[in-house]
Amino acid sequence: MRLQGKVALITGGASGIGLATVHKFVREGAQVVVADIDRERAEKVVAEIEGDGHPGAAAAVQVDVSVYSQVEAAVQRAVDVFGKLDVIFNNAGIAGGKALLDHDPAVDYEPMIRVDQDGVYYGILAAGRQFRAQGTGGVIISTSSIYGEQAAELAFTYSAAKAAVISFTRSAAYELAEYGIRAVAITPGRVGTPIINQFSEELRTTFASEQLRGKLTEPHEIADVVAFLASDEANVINGTVVHVDDGYSVF
Ligand code: NAD
Repeated sequence: MRLQGKVALITGGASGIGLATVHKFVREGAQVVVADIDRERAEKVVAEIEGDGHPGAAAAVQVDVSVYSQVEAAVQRAVDVFGKLDVIFNNAGIAGGKALLDHDPAVDYEPMIRVDQDGVYYGILAAGRQFRAQGTGGVIISTSSIYGEQAAELAFTYSAAKAAVISFTRSAAYELAEYGIRAVAITPGRVGTPIINQFSEELRTTFASEQLRGKLTEPHEIADVVAFLASDEANVINGTVVHVDDGYSVF
């Protein structure tokens, strides 16, 4: 089990990629804080893990990642329940968008920046401070997107936030290496989660055709990579972007 003895905080852990990663981490021996804005679903995930034969392996916390004090409290919850923190997966996010010239900044820019960009910054800051205080080092994994590296239709704000995630990752790796802290960003392509499933079947078929296997990625396929990146086997992967896009970026 590659994460035995590790404690992880996973934001957006109640759905999609985050949920699959919670389950994968528990199977790999980690103790996990399931952090999500949706308290009910986060608590349900923890109950499922308990019922699955992993008592005490998970705890829930409600967090709005766009509020720094709540992210700090989520980190503190990991320490209170499990005694420390080793890994943060900054994964909570929202998607969607309008044509740029139709934007109302208060609706189409600011809220998404607060969650998708500020939320990751807050996670890096709060977990980084905890790792430094522990003196143990730690791993910061953050979810960017293929759109963090390219322009896309109706994604002006989303692309900006996801590009910031890549920049944060590089700078965090550079600045925090002296504390034994590692940072990595992942760029999923098209993953079959509620974010994608809100679109029409026609659009989902197009999305699938944009990946080399011709299908949407399964959330557990991303979770497998995140578990590896969180483990000591990935100690030399630092400050970089790991493309988990099934070849989308070759087009
Ligand atoms: P999802 O909607 O299944 O999961 C997102 C989770 O984040 C939900 O549980 C939601 O409640 C939570 N969340 C939303 N706002 C929050 C907030 N302010 N504070 C705390 N939690 C909040 O979507 P997903 O596809 O699993 O997305 C996970 C991440 O992957 C996101 O950052 C998304 O941008 C990114 N991503 C997804 C895809 C894809 O194709 N699904 C592709 C590239 C990147």
